[in-house]
This record gives sequence, C-alpha cells and structure tokens, in this order.
Amino acid sequence: MRILVTGGAGFIGSHLVDKLMENEKNEVIVADNYFTGSKDNLRKWIGHPRFELIRHDVTEPLLVEVDQIYHLACPASPIFYKYNPVKTIKTNVIGTLNMLGLAKRVGARILLTSTSEVYGDPLVHPQPESYWGNVNPIGVRSCYDEGKRVAETLMFDYHRQHGIQIRIARIFNTYGPRMNIDDGRVVSNFIAQALRDEPLTVQLPGTQTRSFCYVSDMVDGLIRLMEGEHTGPINIGNPGEFTMLELAETVKELINPKVEIKKVDNTPDDPRQRKPDITKATELLGWEPKVKLRDGLPLMEEDFRQRLGVAKKN
Ligand code: NAD
Ligand code: UDP
Ligand code: UDP
Repeated sequence: MRILVTGGAGFIGSHLVDKLMENEKNEVIVADNYFTGSKDNLRKWIGHPRFELIRHDVTEPLLVEVDQIYHLACPASPIFYKYNPVKTIKTNVIGTLNMLGLAKRVGARILLTSTSEVYGDPLVHPQPESYWGNVNPIGVRSCYDEGKRVAETLMFDYHRQHGIQIRIARIFNTYGPRMNIDDGRVVSNFIAQALRDEPLTVQLPGTQTRSFCYVSDMVDGLIRLMEGEHTGPINIGNPGEFTMLELAETVKELINPKVEIKKVDNTPDDPRQRKPDITKATELLGWEPKVKLRDGLPLMEEDFRQRLGVAKKN
C-alpha cells in the first residue's frame, strides 16, 4: 500500500506516519510545506527505504501515484491559521481540490481531517454529526471553519459526481507530544507555562468547555475510519468535557502546584462549549478513546520538559 500523508510533518500527521510505518507493507510519502510542521518530527524516518518526504504546498498540483491519501495539510492552531487567513482558505479549498483531483486520477481513497469547528459556537450539545452548526461566515475564524466546511462539500461532490472513495473525520481538540510549544493552544500553553513557572492564562470567562483527545487515540480512530466502510463525517474525539478553569487546576495539580492561575481577555467568536457525540465512531468503527486527560498530560509533560530543557524536580 502506498500512502500519501499531506501535513505529515505536523503534530497529528507525524504520529500518524509513525503508526503507518509500523506496517512493513506500507510505503509512506509525506507532502508538507513546513509552515507549522518540521522535519524534526519525522527525523527517525528520513532515509528509510519505505519513506519519502517532499517539500510541497498543497495549493499547487501534485503528481504522485498512491493508493490512499490522508489529507491533513492545514494549520490547526488559531494563531497560525489567523496569521495569513487568505492562505488558510486557499489551503483548505484549493489544497483539498488538488488532492481530490489526484485521488480521481489515480483511483485513491482520500480521508479529510475536518474539525469540530464546523459546528461553530454550537447550539446543540453534545454535537452529533447531523448538526449543521452555528458558524459566523465573516469572522476571524471563518478562514478555518468555513474553509473546512467547503472542503467537506468538495469531498462529497467528488464522491457523488466522480465516485471517489472518501472518508471525513471531524476531529475534536487533540493533544500530546510534538505539539508546537508556542502555538497558543490551551493544553500546550498551560503545560509550557507550568514548566516555565509562568501564570496559567485562562481566557475569560473560563467556564467555556472543550473535550481533549490524546493523539494515539486520534491516530487509531483515523486509521479505522480510512480502513472501514463508512464515508462519514464521523466525530473523533474524547467526550470527557472540562472547563478551561478545570483544565488549569488539573495542570497545576499534576505539573506545578505552585503556579498561579490568571484570567486574561479572550479572542472573538470563541465557542462556549464543545463535546463530541461519538455514538457513530463507537458503533461504526468500534472506536473509543482509551487515554484519560490525567494520564495523557504527564506523557506530554515529559516531551515538553525535554524540548524546554526543564528537569523534573524531586
Ligand atoms: P499542525 O499545524 O501541527 O499540522 C499541519 C501540517 O500541515 C503542518 O506540518 C504544516 O506545515 C502543514 N501545512 C499547512 N499548510 C500547508 C500547505 N498549504 N501545504 C502543505 N502543507 C501544509 O496541525 P495538527 O494539529 O497536526 O492538525 C492536523 C490536521 O488536523 C489539520 O487538518 C487540522 O485542521 C486538523 N485538526 C486538528 C485538531 C487539533 O486539535 N490538533 C482539531 C481539529 C482538526
Ligand atoms: N490535480 C493534482 N494532481 C493530479 C490530478 C489533478 O494536483 O494528479 C489537481 C489539478 O491540477 C486540478 C485539481 O486537482 O487543479 C482538480 O482536478 P480535476 O481533474 O478534478 O479537475 P480539472 O483539472 O478538470 O479542473
Ligand atoms: N484558552 C485559554 N488559555 C490559553 C489558550 C486558550 O483559556 O492560553 C482557551 C480558549 O479561550 C478556548 C479554549 O482554551 O476557549 C481552547 O482554545 P484552543 O485555541 O486550544 O482551541 P480551539 O479554540 O480551537 O478549540
């Protein structure tokens, strides 16, 4: 099986590559422009005979011969996707169109990593896949959430019009080793702050909720979706729901009991609550997350300590 992973030098993509490479029958090609990813995340595979890394921007056409495409390429953190919003929407729309054109030409199956952001600031809780969402089409997050909504539309139109085999995962907040240390996402911020003895910045009001999935569970869900018979969209996420204040208290307790918790201003259009309904993933893919937040945070702490050069205190 020859597999293309776009965005494979990023956080989730590099863990997915690790898992795909475990199967000796797989050859893996990564295409990435290194905007938010890095070669370092893939260093153990560089030079491996079943692995190939291409510097490529998915907004440009790509000619390769593959059986499967995991299409992840897109910045995922609000800081990075808002940095150049026009580029973000091009990546979502033109990038997905190109990967669908490629899938059509070579007859490959393609999986899109969509997002829980397609539900916007949801009025239904928890969110089932049948919910159409509550999204601001002209806000500062729209390049990302509307971009992913168009990407989903393109996937279904290529499926209906050209018979392409598609899979759509709606990913909920994911955390784990190799997250960018300074990418502004809440789990990476709190762990880095706790290790640097800086206050944990809880954005107001602090009662907004998220549900956090450990990256190994996420990769397992993505592979099951790709290998299964269902197009989706299917929510992949951990239904354990926490307020940002609860998350801060947990990080404080586990990593640095002396650290201060500080309330700071929030950004526009921040969803107030988010929790996946994973009935479909459980029933159709036999998938459910295994790693609890309290078990996943210390695994990530270890990776952040090494990268920040902070030794563990006794
Ligand atoms: P990430 O930023 O670590 O990885 C994205 C990768 O895509 C990076 O390696 C980046 O360099 C690459 N990339 C960006 N634009 C590109 C372009 N135009 N051409 C080629 N490569 C490009 O993010 P991640 O957390 O690993 O997210 C991976 C995917 O999962 C994304 O599609 C994201 O939207 C989706 N997702 C992630 C989360 C999460 O919590 N991490 C939640 C929902 C959805
Ligand atoms: N494409 C690609 N690689 C391929 C085949 C197509 O990147 O192997 C791109 C192609 O450049 C086009 C897009 O995918 O911009 C959509 O291709 P499709 O064949 O569906 O549409 P068309 O080329 O007819 O507009
Ligand atoms: N958040 C926070 N402190 C931070 C960064 C984020 O309290 O230092 C909050 C943010 O307001 C949001 C939640 O954490 O309610 C998740 O934000 P993140 O950017 O990680 O993900 P997303 O908003 O995309 O779910």
